[in-house]
Amino acid sequence: LMQIYRPLNQVGFVYREIRQSLTDIEEMFKLLDQNPEIEDRAGAKGLRINGPVIRFEDVHFHYDEDRKILKGVSFEVPAGKTIAVVGPSGAGKSTISRLLYRFYDVTSGRITIDEQDVRDVTQKSLRAAIGMVPQDTVLFNDSIAYNIRYGRPDATDEEVREAARLAQVADFIEALPRGYDTEVGERGLKLSGGEKQRVAIARTILKSPEILILDEATSALDTATEREIQSALDTVARDRTTLVIAHRLSTVVDADEILVLRDGQVAERGKHQDLLEQGGLYAQMWSRQLEASEAEERLARTRRDP
Ligand code: ADP
Ligand code: MG
Repeated sequence: LMQIYRPLNQVGFVYREIRQSLTDIEEMFKLLDQNPEIEDRAGAKGLRINGPVIRFEDVHFHYDEDRKILKGVSFEVPAGKTIAVVGPSGAGKSTISRLLYRFYDVTSGRITIDEQDVRDVTQKSLRAAIGMVPQDTVLFNDSIAYNIRYGRPDATDEEVREAARLAQVADFIEALPRGYDTEVGERGLKLSGGEKQRVAIARTILKSPEILILDEATSALDTATEREIQSALDTVARDRTTLVIAHRLSTVVDADEILVLRDGQVAERGKHQDLLEQGGLYAQMWSRQLEASEAEERLARTRRDP
């Protein structure tokens, strides 16, 4: 992979051309934790954490000049608190997580962690502080153990197994003939979306980072598995500065603040109950989800006793 990626970086314009058409490039960033266009500033220092407090200040961003994605987004995640971002798909939610992780730089405005602009610190120190469970996980072409241990390379085998247990993926792994040594990724065993997501959750539980980003971290799981993993995730998130992007609103009810993102702007913000009382977009989304889950239950009942 590095062999095609280096020359691409050197021929910047070709790279930018094909970036438009090749979604694989995005996958590649995720895999390498790196966008070749993002570099450490000369003299960049390590991130110093004392909290940490995350701040987005009037953040604007676009991938392509002719289509603005974020249009002046401001919010704060106080130390140890959980802020949730919800909203229609395409609103720019995942973009917020990518900017915080610095896969991309803001077009204007700034993002700080404990008053340090993320563009001024080394990427290495930034990413050491953040654990992210992305919407679609790309695994390394290596063993399952490697993929989990990537979260904390010095973890013992027992710690890797414990993280897998908490992420509800240990039984699946242990049933494989080669167990934790099973090769995964493009050339190895293909895992389902839900299995990959649980490996990513195990990695993050093991890393136990100071800052946690969950981007629809349980979207590929069934409701029962989601409920079991949710308690492990809640334990990691407790007292940690957490940004959670949610698909199912039931997972954000307890957030310290909920931001409703629409069309690149914060349309509503507040606690669950306040937002329901406002009767706006959030309230609409909430009632729509209630209807959907009630319909689902009715259907399940009819299947049980037709
Ligand atoms: P959400 O997570 O709220 O569904 P995203 O932040 O993923 O939304 O995407 C916001 C918008 O940006 C979408 O319209 C999406 O198509 C676009 N987008 C996302 N990634 C890229 C990219 N790498 N290049 C160009 N456009 C992108
Ligand atoms: Mg998204």
